[in-house]
Amino acid sequence: MTFPISEASAVRFHGPLPEACDVVVIGGGVIGVMTAWFLAARGQKVVLCEKGRIAGEQSSRNWGWIRQQGRDPDELPIMVESLSIWKALAAELGDGLGFRQTGVTYLANGQKDLAGFEAWLPHARAHQLDTRMLGRGEVQAMVGTAADWPGAIFTPSDGRAEPWVAVPMLAEAAVAKGVTVREACAVRSLDVAAGRVAGVVTEHGRIACDRVVVAAGAWSRLFLGAHGVKIPQLAVLASVAATEPMAEVFAGGACDNHFAFRRRADGGYSIAPGAEHDFFVGRDAFASFGVYLPVLKKDFRSTHFRPVAPAGYPDAWGTPRRWVDESPFERVRVLNPKPNMATLGRVQDAFGAALPNLGRPKLRLAWAGMIDTMPDVVPVVDHAPIAGLTIATGMSGHGFGIGPGMGRVIADLVMGRAVGHDLSRFRLSRFSDGSRIAPGPSL
Ligand SMILES: Cc1cc2nc3c(=O)[nH]c(=O)nc-3n(C[C@H](O)[C@H](O)[C@H](O)COP(=O)(O)OP(=O)(O)OC[C@H]3O[C@@H](n4cnc5c(N)ncnc54)[C@H](O)[C@@H]3O)c2cc1C
Repeated sequence: MTFPISEASAVRFHGPLPEACDVVVIGGGVIGVMTAWFLAARGQKVVLCEKGRIAGEQSSRNWGWIRQQGRDPDELPIMVESLSIWKALAAELGDGLGFRQTGVTYLANGQKDLAGFEAWLPHARAHQLDTRMLGRGEVQAMVGTAADWPGAIFTPSDGRAEPWVAVPMLAEAAVAKGVTVREACAVRSLDVAAGRVAGVVTEHGRIACDRVVVAAGAWSRLFLGAHGVKIPQLAVLASVAATEPMAEVFAGGACDNHFAFRRRADGGYSIAPGAEHDFFVGRDAFASFGVYLPVLKKDFRSTHFRPVAPAGYPDAWGTPRRWVDESPFERVRVLNPKPNMATLGRVQDAFGAALPNLGRPKLRLAWAGMIDTMPDVVPVVDHAPIAGLTIATGMSGHGFGIGPGMGRVIADLVMGRAVGHDLSRFRLSRFSDGSRIAPGPSL
């Protein structure tokens, strides 16, 4: 498969649309795919509609880290379950997922970072994780570095996978379980009758159903907003690159404040900035400015603000908020933004300086993704005010690893079964019931 996945990539999923089904899932990223998988496993007739290509947006463009380490405490139990599902998926589907438990390490740039890492340890202990602190000497021995990292936090059981291969593979496996997957099929709107879902209107016709899951990533706010359901979701641009093959210094994922790297199955590394990203200012950004202040204060210096998003992006100035017939979802099939090469140049410099035994990496490929984010950096996983509608979005830059666990949880939520975890932190009403909106103690 060519990467990055774009509108030019061949359509691989042509599932014929039925007139009716039990559940329609909107969005073929890891969240939609794994939700559909678990719904089918529970005997539901499921249709998954993807406007572009399976995993075309965030779910193929991410770093491929599957981490428990540093998670928000309310996500952590779902992530622990997710890791065990990843293991089962790897046993069922084989090596192609690229799943390996090679560990995740956060390298400290100073004592303040170390104190922050230590403060997260009680959450690890509460779930019997193998997380531990490393001293300066252990870090040296682990990555053989010139950088002066005084220590690190390390979770050996954390994993990695190859997202652009893994998520389409999971979609194929979902098809084998009975899910109808259809690419190049935008859902334009919900069909709502007497306050409850009666179906969806796709660009290829209507499908009757009484339950719908919105797992539309960076497009969820636009889709839901057209039905009067408000969520303060925004999207930020994150740049990534794949290096040429290089010697292995660490088999897992590692980062400090300046750069991150993750060993790839092809013998190179996926590298990215530690914190830098780009942000297109649009109408939604203005509307949500206040609620984002706590994260903005933290991230202001590492954000490159840009006044205009590419045409047709969810928060571009010209993107319509209401439509009849052709929708914004079919005008931009795949969000495929240009990476910030200046940012990636700084990442190459930081990598080369910290790991002189490897040197400044040569890039084989560079890409970017639009991360869908929430002001408290945790998702919305909840029923919507429209009966039959479930929202599963805003994974805030860490939805790949937790995707299989979230899929199981969302499927049970849709079916009205006990989900086994406390989802109150992820409720939609937190943005309207006067709750204090702030990120939790995550790293
Ligand atoms: C650069 C980068 C690095 C990251 N690194 C990590 C990491 O290392 N570990 C980790 O756990 N997470 C990581 N993430 C986050 C992770 O990739 C996402 O949280 C996760 O993929 C979100 O999955 P999703 O299914 O919710 O959304 P997406 O993968 O964005 O999928 C949503 C899909 O919905 C489709 N869609 C939208 N509207 C419609 C519609 N109306 N009709 C039909 N289809 C529609 C879109 O085309 C899209 O394919 C990273 C993200 C990025 C961008």
